[in-house]
Amino acid sequence: MFDLILRRATLPDGRGSTDGGIDIGIRDGRIAAVEANLAGEAGAEIDATGRLVSPPFVDAHFHMDSTLSYGLPRVNQSGTLLEGIALWGELKPQLTQDAIVERALAYCDWAVGRGLLAIRSHVDICDPRLLATEALLDVKKRVAPYLDLQLVAFPQDGVLRAPGAKELLVRALDMGVDVVGGIPHFERTMADGAASVRLLCEIAAERGLLVDMHCDESDDPLSRHVETLAYETQRLGLHGRVTGSHLTSMHSMDNYYVSKLIPLMAEARLGVIANPLINIVLQGRHDTYPKRRGMTRVPELMAAGLTVAFGHDCVMDPWYPLGSGDMLEVAHMGLHVGQMTGQDGIKAAFDAVTVNPAKLLHLDGYGLEPGCNADLVVLQAGNPVEAIRTRAARLFVLRRGRIVSRCEPVQARLDLPGRPETVDFLLKRG
Ligand SMILES: [Zn+2]
Repeated sequence: MFDLILRRATLPDGRGSTDGGIDIGIRDGRIAAVEANLAGEAGAEIDATGRLVSPPFVDAHFHMDSTLSYGLPRVNQSGTLLEGIALWGELKPQLTQDAIVERALAYCDWAVGRGLLAIRSHVDICDPRLLATEALLDVKKRVAPYLDLQLVAFPQDGVLRAPGAKELLVRALDMGVDVVGGIPHFERTMADGAASVRLLCEIAAERGLLVDMHCDESDDPLSRHVETLAYETQRLGLHGRVTGSHLTSMHSMDNYYVSKLIPLMAEARLGVIANPLINIVLQGRHDTYPKRRGMTRVPELMAAGLTVAFGHDCVMDPWYPLGSGDMLEVAHMGLHVGQMTGQDGIKAAFDAVTVNPAKLLHLDGYGLEPGCNADLVVLQAGNPVEAIRTRAARLFVLRRGRIVSRCEPVQARLDLPGRPETVDFLLKRG
């Protein structure tokens, strides 16, 4: 007896696409069986009718303390990273815990509606009140039944540059923040940046925590903090536990140097997070023409065997005026910027918003195998490529086997003589 059977699904790896579909049996909040023509009774059934059923989207890089604050206290006129940081500095003293909680909860509602059920959010700890830290720890508890929120202690103003930041970071970790963050390129000098990487990795090693640093988020081809991050990971034996976020300077680096750097990153098993929506608008701002694309070398890093995820980074905050929690939009932009338009590239972009970030977050029970959590999304698409192409509607979102969001299939009603009555933007499949 199953609590629920999801019938006739197509899985992201293509299983079920040609042979009538795969059935997924769910019991006690977990996937109990994945097979064709699953026998047995069920309390309820959902017919996926050949549509794509995926584990949920995962956002490996977000800022939930600033989300939905767009326009407060004013709009970022230049659209640059530095004006965004300055604007956030103006907003911080005006923040209240209630307002942060309210905005974060509203964003989590959007996320669930988009099938986004796990988010790693940085939280700025450069505030003696640690207001945002307290707020997001509260949010983490409140959303836990339907969304995994992992928090990174992020010293936005530099752990060495900002007075008292190291103590605040340690306090935030003591309060229960999960991951150690950093921002070496914002420290005063390259040497201070390297020292900050060393310090933060040592704190993580002592406490047995993961690391995720904003690293080399600039167009400076000589920024070298990712090299230090790989070195410290190697030195402290943190393989597979450290992630470099952004790494945009890699876009501008000398190719010979990168040919040495990528193997060092692979040796340390560094995770990589690109944030395509944000990188493409914030980087290259000092260029005239040609303007650089501000995204790290995603296809090359993937080819070297590194785990690469795409993050959303920002939604309606001092740095970015758009976004709605849709990781398919993130994947869409990422594959464009990375010129990953081959079928394998598009599928890799889908992985970069699902299985890859799940791996970087060390999520337990993520996936489609028996025994995994029954966290699933039914998409109005036949496969991952179609899902990204149409930014497919999320027809059902399941958390631990319970439907937490649903919507109707998207279609337009046409009024064209001699043509079909409706169109759903999908190619009909055999
Ligand atoms: Zn960020």
